[in-house]
Amino acid sequence: MAPVIDITEARTHVFERCPALPARDLPFRAAIGCVLAGPVVAGEDVPPFANSAVDGYAVRAASVQAAPVELPVVGEVAAGAATDHVLQLGEAIRIMTGAPVPAGADAIVMVEDTERLDGGSRVRVLRPVASGAAVRAVGDDIPVGTPLYEPGTMITPTIAAVLASVNAAVVSVVPRVRVAVLSTGDELIDDGGPLQPGQIRESNRTMLHGLVAAAGCEAIDLGVVRDDEAELERVLREAAATCDAVVTSGGVSMGDYDVVKAVLSRIADMRWMQIAIKPAKPFAFGLLDAGDGRAVPIFGLPGNPVSSMVSFELLARPALRQMAGHRSPQRPFVRAIADDGLSRQPDGKIHYQRVFAEFGADGRVHVRTVGAQGSHQLAATSMANAIAEVPDGDGVEAGGSVGTMLLWVG
Ligand code: AMP
Ligand code: MG
Repeated sequence: MAPVIDITEARTHVFERCPALPARDLPFRAAIGCVLAGPVVAGEDVPPFANSAVDGYAVRAASVQAAPVELPVVGEVAAGAATDHVLQLGEAIRIMTGAPVPAGADAIVMVEDTERLDGGSRVRVLRPVASGAAVRAVGDDIPVGTPLYEPGTMITPTIAAVLASVNAAVVSVVPRVRVAVLSTGDELIDDGGPLQPGQIRESNRTMLHGLVAAAGCEAIDLGVVRDDEAELERVLREAAATCDAVVTSGGVSMGDYDVVKAVLSRIADMRWMQIAIKPAKPFAFGLLDAGDGRAVPIFGLPGNPVSSMVSFELLARPALRQMAGHRSPQRPFVRAIADDGLSRQPDGKIHYQRVFAEFGADGRVHVRTVGAQGSHQLAATSMANAIAEVPDGDGVEAGGSVGTMLLWVG
């Protein structure tokens, strides 16, 4: 029997074996959610030409210093158009937001500060403007040559839009991690049919598939695999050949009928762990040779649904995020106030209690238990948005503080 280790040792073991995937070039749209592997430098000015920030009239500021004044309107320029006319002192050109500022003009009077005269052939300017007013200069947002993003930056939708605006069509990123998800166990049914004696409905795969996708990875569903050595080996080898990581649930506990253990021990370099935590004490991690030079991480999560969820959060998710190149692969961890306390007995383990977290009027995070903490009681856990790390001992008294991993708040 493997010695019981602490969570830090388990994490270190896993994280050391899950380096970032090799970089790849991707079109910027496909790269949203991915982490940059190289820097991005602006190859173009944004905006590429001086343009108007408002709808109004392009003028020389000097022409309207004595406003109110009337000027002839000698032309019009819309966004996407241009004019050859060089604007002279005493003239106005009608201009729309985003249209290039005509040569000779140095300011825009916004339409709200004008009155249209003679069917638009003249304009009364009601207020003077300063030179440069409402003109967006070339490179005002991004001058060409600007270092925009460092390696390690995750491409958000807003960053992708900036990449589009500087025409960085293809960027070097750590690709999305492809993660195979499978469940093991002869008792598991997922076809919607009636339950036979001893059978239960398979639920972990749905959860893990969703958690993998929510972690920014591509989840590949490999179904329920029966407790059959040949079948399990075939599915695992296929998973390793086609994916970057494998997440399994079930079959890693001490007393388990040992199909999962037998197969994984034979085909992969595994470490079978007993971690001093509750839930999720059993956990297996290993590397499976994909046959093409890659060593594919395998996360063997326990089958009890709550244990599966907690060990995914503590061990698999940060490792997958590290593979995806994230600089901070961990969930946010804060000190929260346990309003009603969190009870437990001493047993030599850290307890990861599922809680509901909220920001209080004091600006601090407050947590309350979601109720039942059994490793099979997923209904209560499904109401949690955070996991409180309750150290060994007698628990946290009401109003006491507790380290809390935020899953999602809001
Ligand atoms: P195991 O880790 O295989 O020993 O399973 C522990 C417990 O979790 C047993 O009660 C299993 O029936 C249950 N279990 C295992 N896998 C799943 C699953 N995919 N969905 C729901 N329950 C499961
Ligand atoms: Mg099982």
